[in-house]
Amino acid sequence: MAFILFIYEYNLIETYFPPILLTFVGYIIAAVGLVLIIPFVHYKRLAVNGAELHRGTITASRKYIAMLSPLTNDKVTIPENLFIFNSDFRRLYYDSVNSYLYGFPNASLPNTVRCLEVGLKKKYNALKSNAATLPANDSNFVNNVDKAIRATKNKDLEEVSLLELIEAGKIYYADQKETAQYLRTLRNKIHDISNIVDSEAQFAIAKITSVLNGIYSLSKQIDIKVRCTQCGKIHTYNIDSQLFYIGNKIQLECKDTEKERTQQEKHYVITVLPSLTDIY
Ligand SMILES: [Zn+2]
Repeated sequence: MAFILFIYEYNLIETYFPPILLTFVGYIIAAVGLVLIIPFVHYKRLAVNGAELHRGTITASRKYIAMLSPLTNDKVTIPENLFIFNSDFRRLYYDSVNSYLYGFPNASLPNTVRCLEVGLKKKYNALKSNAATLPANDSNFVNNVDKAIRATKNKDLEEVSLLELIEAGKIYYADQKETAQYLRTLRNKIHDISNIVDSEAQFAIAKITSVLNGIYSLSKQIDIKVRCTQCGKIHTYNIDSQLFYIGNKIQLECKDTEKERTQQEKHYVITVLPSLTDIY
């Protein structure tokens, strides 16, 4: 403090720091301030209360809801059967969806394409171990990948390119030609310098999810665990897998029998969202 007073008293600021330098310092302080403030404002604007979202009482920002709506309209059904093979896939897939929902399409798209690549490789490995008893589609896919592996230098699956895997998996796609062509453009897109926009990331999630659900057929019913808002306990519900699409609201009924409840007290709603725990 004494030093500051000393500088002020003897007019040292102007002596040692000419006005142009002071202006420059001012710009730097303002820039640092903006760098610190902008991310804070950005996250605050996007922040949502995950617990409330799952409970169906959305208090998300308008931006989040605007991002969620197209996925809900497309009925993007969470590829639960992919996760059975490896629980890391859930993390991978949810990172894609959450990156998109929170406004980071450049982070989302490469990861969505990665889900496709690991999904195809894992399918091949799983089928290869039962190669003798495969249905026609699966055996066709295995033969295609085998051919691509034989063409690599070290005869190794890891050397097979994503473009070749996309081609080999054609048999599983609806609208084979168009889908394969679209997937190839995505592969090129993630190696390109141009910015990825929200709608591109969103469309890729919808399309690749549908491809993954073609490769890993969804079971008709799936079990979900939910922490009940009415009694606080965790109940398991067996629901139609077609209802398990992102943003869908599902009404559930409390299963607790210890306390007498009216019909209204028994019912509550959850929203299907990418949740990193398996309990909603
Ligand atoms: Zn309950």
